[in-house]
Parts: sequence; C-alpha cells; structure tokens
Amino acid sequence: MTSPLTVVGGGIIGLSIAWRCAQRGLDVAVYDEGRDDGAWYAAAGMLAAAGETAFGQEALSALLLESSKRWAGFAAGLGSLGYDRTGALDVALTSDDLASARRMWGYRDGPQPLASSELRDLEPALSPRVRGGALLPGDHQVDPRRVVAALRSALGDAVQPRRVDTIPDGPVVIAAGIGTAALTGLPVRPVKGLVLRLRAEPGLLRHVINGYVDGRHVYVVPRADGDIIVGATEEERADLTVTAGAVLELLRSATDLVPDLAEAELTETVVRHRPGTPDNAPLLGRWRTDVIVAAGHHRNGVLLAPITADLIADLVVTGRPDPLLDAFAPGRFA
Ligand SMILES: Cc1cc2nc3c(=O)[nH]c(=O)nc-3n(C[C@H](O)[C@H](O)[C@H](O)COP(=O)(O)OP(=O)(O)OC[C@H]3O[C@@H](n4cnc5c(N)ncnc54)[C@H](O)[C@@H]3O)c2cc1C
Repeated sequence: MTSPLTVVGGGIIGLSIAWRCAQRGLDVAVYDEGRDDGAWYAAAGMLAAAGETAFGQEALSALLLESSKRWAGFAAGLGSLGYDRTGALDVALTSDDLASARRMWGYRDGPQPLASSELRDLEPALSPRVRGGALLPGDHQVDPRRVVAALRSALGDAVQPRRVDTIPDGPVVIAAGIGTAALTGLPVRPVKGLVLRLRAEPGLLRHVINGYVDGRHVYVVPRADGDIIVGATEEERADLTVTAGAVLELLRSATDLVPDLAEAELTETVVRHRPGTPDNAPLLGRWRTDVIVAAGHHRNGVLLAPITADLIADLVVTGRPDPLLDAFAPGRFA
C-alpha cells in the first residue's frame, strides 16, 4: 500500500499503529472523536504478561508475552512515559486466597512464591494479615495517559478531531475500541471498568500489587509521583455511572491489603469501557480488501500496543500477514 493511510480511532492502539506506520514512511491521518473517552484514559497501565495469562488462552498469552518484550524498545522511542520495571507482587489476604493464587501460578510464567514476611520486607505497607504471595518480576507498568500524549505529540497534525460514521475509502485501519462495532458490525462489546486515583506519600509502595482479597480481586498501582491507581471493576454494562457500591468494594479491598491507603486523598473516579470480544482476544488483521481491523483488546490494550503496532504496520506495508496474526482474524466469529 502506498496511498495515504487513514486510521479511525486515536486511542492507544490507533495512535501506536499510526506512529509505527509514519516511521515506515507512510502518509497517515488519524481521525478521533477528540474526547478523552477511550478506555486508555482509565487504564492502570499494568503490563501484566504473567498476571493476565489465563488457562485455555495459549495464543493470547503468547501475544502478551511477545508484546511485553517489545515494551522497552517502544518506550525508548517516545520519551518519559512512567515505564517502570520494578515488577509486580501477587498478594493473598487469606489462606483461601493463597490457594486461589497458587492455582493461577500453576500455568503462569515465572512467579516466585514469597512468604508473608518476605512480602513485607519488599513492601512494608502491606497488612500483617497477608498470608503469602509471589513476585512477578517481568510484569511492569507504564502511564497510559503519558503514552497517548507522547504519541499525539509525535504524530502532530496527523491526528485530527473528527467522528467517523462510515468506513472511509482507501486503505484504512479501524482501531476505534468499542466504536468498532458500530462501524463494522464486528462483535466488540463494552465492558465497564471503574478505577480510583488516590494521592499518597511518594514511596508508600513500589511494586504493582495484584490482590486476592476474600475471593475478590483488586490491583494497586503506585506511580513515582505518589498517585496510586486502584482498580478495577468489571461489569457487562455500557453506562458511565460511578456507583457508591463499586467505589466501596475497591476501597475495602485495597485498604484490607494496604491499611495506610485509608489516609490517602481520593482524587479521581473514572469509568471507561474495555473493548471486549466473544473470546476476549483482539481482532487483528485484514477484514475487507482495503480495511484492516485492530480492536477488541479488552483488558490488555496497553500491554498489547507495541506488538499490535508492529504487526499491523507490517501488514499495511508488505501486504503479508505475520503468522502471529492467524489466531486473531477479525472475521473468526462470522
Ligand atoms: C478500567 C480499565 C483498566 C484497564 N487497565 C489496563 C491495564 O492495566 N493494562 C492494559 O494493558 N490495559 C488495560 N485496560 C484496557 C485498555 O485500556 C484497552 O484495551 C485499550 O485502551 C484499547 O485501546 P483502543 O485504542 O483499541 O481503544 P480505546 O482506548 O477505547 O480508544 C478508542 C478511540 O477511538 C475513538 N473512536 C471510537 N469510535 C470512533 C469513531 N466512530 N470515529 C472517531 N473516533 C472514534 C474513541 O474516541 C477513542 O479515542 C483497562 C481498561 C479499563 C477500562
């Protein structure tokens, strides 16, 4: 393809693809509705290749791992993104939670089990009630809002505030998150997620914490500046309401793990929609003659941005799909 490329959707996926295509010499335009309404705006930015590996999702797990390996190189081209490689801790509050966590470690890559005292040596702010956990040294984090800002800045005037209601002519990549369904009819659905932003003393925590708390899951993601992201709910709903019950559930779980968080300032509540698919793996590849789709990244669009951008830019430039795309064909549910 040598004609100008249109990318519909300027979230983390569309911008990453456009950036890689521009680096390969293509003339690119990105059309985005222009509001911060993408899932990226809520995303905690966990690059959790091990933590997100799930039973029966072999192709997706391999894609997560490959993208995780590409994050350092991707970040190096964009400047300061809060990319942090301290690692993540799985932390279980009760013995039942520890048993659940151990079952997950059975099919994940590289968890290093730790006793309660070892966890608290690494993170003294953890509750003395925690029963045990594991270090996931390869699970990192980045700040998605900084990634999007850096990509927008790298692309400059190529990013245009425009809502697209029908698929434009010519080579086009549809990367519109949950907006992909209305444009293509492909099965991308909204999965509601709430995160909270707290402000605590910088240094209260260093690792990303994946909590198993009385059968519930919560994560606590500390940024270097003292912001702490607590997330996330997951509901099959399309509304944007922040409910008291959801805030209560997240705060209760987070303070069970890290009691000092009760003293932190609650600075933001934000709901957005993960783009889910019937198997919750992304739709990646050619869909029609001139139309490529890159959508449906569900819980892992930040982690998957580098590999998605590389594979789709390759497809745009060479016309040949990488075998890694085989399992993610956009038309696989037809
Ligand atoms: C609460 C929460 C926490 C998350 N945490 C993580 C995490 O820790 N790690 C991780 O890897 N992922 C996480 N995710 C998932 C991640 O945010 C998504 O997978 C990712 O943002 C998908 O990227 P995208 O660009 O496809 O879609 P989006 O980020 O949703 O962006 C889509 C863009 O397309 C635009 N658009 C839509 N329709 C149109 C149209 N018709 N015309 C023009 N523009 C249009 C929208 O305005 C938007 O800017 C989280 C998501 C949520 C909601």
